[in-house]
Amino acid sequence: MMGKIEILKTDITTLAVDAIVNAANSSLLGGGGVDGAIHRAAGPGLLDECRLLGGCKTGQAKLTRGYKLPAKQIIHTVGPVWYGGQNGEPELLASCYRSCFAIARSHNLRTLAFPAISCGVYRFPVDLAVKIAMRETTAELKRDDAIQQVIFACFDEAVYAAYLRAEKEHSLGVD
Ligand code: ADP
Repeated sequence: MMGKIEILKTDITTLAVDAIVNAANSSLLGGGGVDGAIHRAAGPGLLDECRLLGGCKTGQAKLTRGYKLPAKQIIHTVGPVWYGGQNGEPELLASCYRSCFAIARSHNLRTLAFPAISCGVYRFPVDLAVKIAMRETTAELKRDDAIQQVIFACFDEAVYAAYLRAEKEHSLGVD
């Protein structure tokens, strides 16, 4: 089951998977960070489709085509802004991962790549975000065998290191 998880230091827009996940904002009309990179790489067709979606609530997700990306589709999810942790942030981040997996299952998307949702301008503590991402992913892979591969695409060194630590702890059975 852990064999289906891969931790890569890479730009998510380069990955030829069934779907990459975008850490979007609630307008779904583009932004900075990974969202900006995805819109630049996908081309203007993506914004045209996003305009029709009517935004997305925090913790939820919506699907579009991948346009010029090597990925076939994009799952746009809106992570929580970190306001100290007493405002449901951990539950909302878990809900992002669950919503993405639900869309993947219902559309038969078997290979996925996630960025570190909320770990950029939304300031979510990286170690906690990684723990939530790993917990929700291992739960999904245990529950259902539809999804064949989950890549955690790490763009910055701190996120990459946190994923490698979490993977090591997981393989040692520490939690
Ligand atoms: P959020 O608003 O959810 O915090 P950001 O885009 O600001 O989203 O950051 C989320 C994470 O995505 C950060 O760890 C950032 O380094 C990373 N990131 C930025 N560009 C890319 C990219 N091209 N591929 C993968 N991850 C990226």
